[in-house]
Amino acid sequence: MNQEHKGYVPLTRAEFSTLTSQFARLLSTEHPPVIIPGEAILGIEAVAAGISAPGRTFINVVTGPYGSLFGGWLERGGARVVEVKVPFDEVVPAEQVAAAIERVKPDAISFVQAEVVTGGSNPAKEILRIARTHNLITVTDSVSAVGGEELLVDEWGVDFAAVGAQKALGGPNGVSAVSISPRGWEFMESNKAAPRNSILSLLDLKPSPTGVEPLRVPPNIPALEARALIDALAAVEAEGLDNVISRHRAAAASAVSGIKALGLEPWQKDSGHYSTLTTTVRIGGDQRLRIAQPVGIVAPGDGELNGRLLRINHFGVNASLQSVETAVTALAELLETDAAAALQAVRAAWGNAHA
Ligand SMILES: *Cc1c(COP(=O)(O)O)cnc(C)c1O
Repeated sequence: MNQEHKGYVPLTRAEFSTLTSQFARLLSTEHPPVIIPGEAILGIEAVAAGISAPGRTFINVVTGPYGSLFGGWLERGGARVVEVKVPFDEVVPAEQVAAAIERVKPDAISFVQAEVVTGGSNPAKEILRIARTHNLITVTDSVSAVGGEELLVDEWGVDFAAVGAQKALGGPNGVSAVSISPRGWEFMESNKAAPRNSILSLLDLKPSPTGVEPLRVPPNIPALEARALIDALAAVEAEGLDNVISRHRAAAASAVSGIKALGLEPWQKDSGHYSTLTTTVRIGGDQRLRIAQPVGIVAPGDGELNGRLLRINHFGVNASLQSVETAVTALAELLETDAAAALQAVRAAWGNAHA
């Protein structure tokens, strides 16, 4: 055995630079994102801790459980938080956000771009356009959006975007990223309460302006996870981000066709705002759909949505025709009905969407 290849080799500067550049390209930003030495949720909590302060007002849009969580972290930091909430089978209408901004006159707005838990995707581009006209700081949880839909960080003016690779990008979840604009850094640096010397500190992790030549690699980046992430992001680039997104769109379109052909109803009300990562199925009173355990990529609802919806998790490697066919077959079995017509609908929709 070669001695050099035994044991744990910390992440090198070159690897760290590679990862930073991969995330920047993925997010269409020229500003080096912060690499988070943990799950995406750590980056999200760190954003809240870094920007919340007494005297600051936020609008926090809640269209699912992650939005509530973020609002709680903002409140912990002492900010005034005005919640704009919709039922979890809807996405937020851009007009409702615009009206709240007029009324509240906040400093910043936060929202989850796409929700895997509810299967809804908020009108991110429109919300960000409105926020820009009011010169607001913008925060998105884009963990379940990146790879499933567009996210043009610089062009759309996203000041903070939290992302991870474990959903659409088919990567590990142990390392993630937060993209921060120059305005975003100013907003955080001007906050006396922003953590320093803390696992929640983004200021501690601020990249050098060029990003590509870090003076040192943050010592707590798990190297094995980071290397797996580099490989996953390289695979996304090899396939092409547009193609990854198109594959998720096709999976969603074919899953929706399949469930409708089985006589089932999507949980989300607005067909223009389905998530491309999950298709949620309304259970209504149908006892046959009340499953306790996942059947492949068909899973029971989380938390308060348990017993109310089923989720088809067609993301990452499961954004494929075969995975959707398997899921629709599993649903047909729960309904004790023949799957043939539904599978035909699935294939037709896949062909239309991913030609
Ligand atoms: C999955 C998910 C997260 C959490 O990411 P983890 O890295 O798994 O903790 C956060 N927000 C949204 C919208 C998600 O879908």
